[in-house]
Amino acid sequence: MAREWNIETKCVQSGYRPGNGEPREIPIIQSTTFKYDTSADMGKLFDLEASGYFYSRLQNPTNDYVAAKITEMEGGTAGMLTSSGQAATFFAVFNLANAGDHIVSSSTIYGGTYNLFNVTMRKMGIDFTFVDPNCSEEELEAAFRPNTKAVFGETIANPALTVFDFEKFSRAAHAHGVPLIIDNTFATPVNCRPFEWGADIITHSTTKYMDGHGAALGGAVIDSGKFDWMAHADNFPGLTTPDESYHGITYAEKFGREGAFITKATAQLMRDFGAAQSPQHAFILNLGLESLHCRMKQHCANALALAEFLQSSPKVDWVSYPSLPGDPYYERAQKYMPNGSCGVVSFGIKGSRADAEAFMKELRVFSIETHVADARSCCLHPASSTHRQLTDEELLAGGVSANLVRMSCGLEAAQDLVGDVEQALAKI
Ligand SMILES: *Cc1c(COP(=O)(O)O)cnc(C)c1O
Repeated sequence: MAREWNIETKCVQSGYRPGNGEPREIPIIQSTTFKYDTSADMGKLFDLEASGYFYSRLQNPTNDYVAAKITEMEGGTAGMLTSSGQAATFFAVFNLANAGDHIVSSSTIYGGTYNLFNVTMRKMGIDFTFVDPNCSEEELEAAFRPNTKAVFGETIANPALTVFDFEKFSRAAHAHGVPLIIDNTFATPVNCRPFEWGADIITHSTTKYMDGHGAALGGAVIDSGKFDWMAHADNFPGLTTPDESYHGITYAEKFGREGAFITKATAQLMRDFGAAQSPQHAFILNLGLESLHCRMKQHCANALALAEFLQSSPKVDWVSYPSLPGDPYYERAQKYMPNGSCGVVSFGIKGSRADAEAFMKELRVFSIETHVADARSCCLHPASSTHRQLTDEELLAGGVSANLVRMSCGLEAAQDLVGDVEQALAKI
């Protein structure tokens, strides 16, 4: 048997294997619909009796090539693209939980995910308990209920930069017969492969490092194929009992551990919600994936150089970067991400909200954006932008201090990034 490829080779080559005389680059199949010779042929697709394409809301070949690449990069068995990271998170959770169910989630997660869970999915009748990612085993245990259907966390939380304790959370999830869902956006499979540490389902905002050029919004859901739905059949009737909207198919029986989760998410959620990625975006995403391994090295090297400089600056109160020796998450980051974590560093400027604003105005290489994880360096001062309606006290309660500045290091020269920050700090 062929040896499994390294992550670098998977970034470049996985997912699409052209046949003799076929295009070398992934073709963009810009077609919403597909043609069949007989109704019977098409009927088999509708019944999930044969695999093939009939309408791009459900599946499209370009998207499937790219989903297959990300699946191989993560070491999973099946995957799907979605229109955004938000749609990926929603699908991953809603594929398991119905009204009346409950999810345990880390409290340090992306703000959009927190809102999706705490506001919108609560309206759908799904309840959430948020736990401190550094809680004790006892506190974590106490968060579970008989109707808990999954545990959720982020490898490196955006923007808190906490590093997830995979073993503690996966042990608890599996003891309760539920899967662990991980948002691996910030680390990417180049730096961390959560399936190797007990995760069962992975989600991505491919809008960030995977695209990496600020060009295409997108998301992905990947299944490890390891979770045994049938062994916990009572917890997951959607996967283990017949789906009457698909001619009585039982996903876990017909598609096994390897395929049940993604087939159900495609057949039910993509069919009914339609959060499909455009094949144009999938093509752009694939261009990003081809260089992801090269880019992550540079993002991480730049972030480490900036974090080291900030740590030595008298104008800086504190620095947070998981790969910086002395950071509270350094040991955990070394264990799960020995080759680097991400390109995002946050720090507290000595002074007030106004000093942070003044510093940002002086930057020339870093531009002010809500975005992160892009080829171009960018930064954000939450207290004067995304969180500006909050008082200093309210900010602190949400884990964001008024002097916090988030720096996303791009692919420029480290010297230019450090130099930019140095000159801007000198002016305040
Ligand atoms: C941006 C982001 C999301 C949401 O992704 P979109 O593509 O913007 O919908 C989810 N999780 C994390 C960690 C993110 O950074």
